[in-house]
Amino acid sequence: MRSIARSACTAALAGALLLTGTVFSGNAAAVGEGPDYQGNEKIRTSILSTYDEVVDFLKTQDARQDAMELEVIGQTVKGRDIHLAKYVSDPGNPTILYLAQQHGNEQLTTEAMLHTIKSLGSPSKASLLEDVNVLFIPMFNADGAMGDVNFPLDDYLAAGERHLTRYNANEVDLNRDHVAKAEPETRALHENVLSVYDIDYAIDLHHQGTQSRVNGDLVSGSILYPTTPDVSPELVERSKQLGAVVYQNVDRTGWGHIGRYDGGSANTIGRNGMAAEYGIATLLFEMRGMSDHEYAPYVLGQKSNGYLIHQSVVTMEATIAAVADGSVSKADTSFWDTLPQQCDTC
Ligand SMILES: [Zn+2]
Repeated sequence: MRSIARSACTAALAGALLLTGTVFSGNAAAVGEGPDYQGNEKIRTSILSTYDEVVDFLKTQDARQDAMELEVIGQTVKGRDIHLAKYVSDPGNPTILYLAQQHGNEQLTTEAMLHTIKSLGSPSKASLLEDVNVLFIPMFNADGAMGDVNFPLDDYLAAGERHLTRYNANEVDLNRDHVAKAEPETRALHENVLSVYDIDYAIDLHHQGTQSRVNGDLVSGSILYPTTPDVSPELVERSKQLGAVVYQNVDRTGWGHIGRYDGGSANTIGRNGMAAEYGIATLLFEMRGMSDHEYAPYVLGQKSNGYLIHQSVVTMEATIAAVADGSVSKADTSFWDTLPQQCDTC
C-alpha cells in the first residue's frame, strides 16, 4: 500500500509541477475551461491519496522536518485520528491556519497541502518559518473522504475503491456545525486548535461545482471574506487583505480566473464562525470541481487536477510569505469592489 500511496500522490504532484514549468502561457481561460465530467472521462478516485496514505505522508515529513510537529487533535465519528501539522517557532509570531476537507469530497486541496508541507521542509524555507507560525489540517473530514459513512453513496459518480462525500459519517455538514459543535470533528477543531492557538489568519479550502462563470469564462475558483454581522469592519478589512494576496498571486499566473463566492452570513459556517468567535481574519477559497458527487455538474474530470492543485499551492505559499513579512497588512483591497460575483447561468 505504501508504494501505491507514494505513486498516487507523486503523480498528482508531478502534474502540478509540470504545469508550473512551461505549459501556462497567460491564457486566462486555461483552468476554467478544462474538461469537466459530463461524460467526457471517467472519474477515478484511485488517483487521490487515501486517509492512510495522508497519515503515512505526514509521519514521514514529521520525521524529516525539525520545524514540523504532528499532533492528533481528536477523532472522527469512525475513530480516525484528525491530524494537525504545525510549524510554531515562536508563539509571538503571526499565525495562519489552513483547513482542508471539511467536505470530504473536496480533496485536491488536501493534495496541495501535502505538497506545501513537503516544500516547507526545504532548507530554503527555514528563515521564512522563523517569522510565521503555520497550522495545517489536511484531511478534516476523513470519514467523508473515505466514504466510510452511515448512509448510502450508491448514486455517487466516481469509479474506484471509494466514494467521497461532503458529509461526515453522521451525514452532518461540518461546515454548518461551527456554532453547535455537535460533531466530534468540529469539537476537536474548536477545543484543540481554535481555542488553543492565537490564530491571526485562516484559509478554509473547498471545492465548488464546475459550471460557475465570470465574464463568460468558467472560473478556476471563488473567494469570500466573512459576511457575518458579528465581526468588526477592521476584521473584514484584514480578511479582505488576505484575499487580496490570494487574488493577486493567482491572477498573476495568467491562468487563474477568480470570482466572488455568493456565501451566507450564518456563523455556523467556518468562514464566519471562526471570525466571529475568535477574531480570526478568514478567507474561503473554493476551487473548481469536486472529486465525487451524485450530481454530474459538480464533478470535475481529473485532467484538471494539476491546475487546481497548483492553484491551492500558490494560495498557501503566497499567504505564508505575506504573513511572515507583514506585507499582508499592506495589501490593497480595492479589487474586491469590482470583483464580479460568479454565476452558473451567465
Ligand atoms: Zn466545501
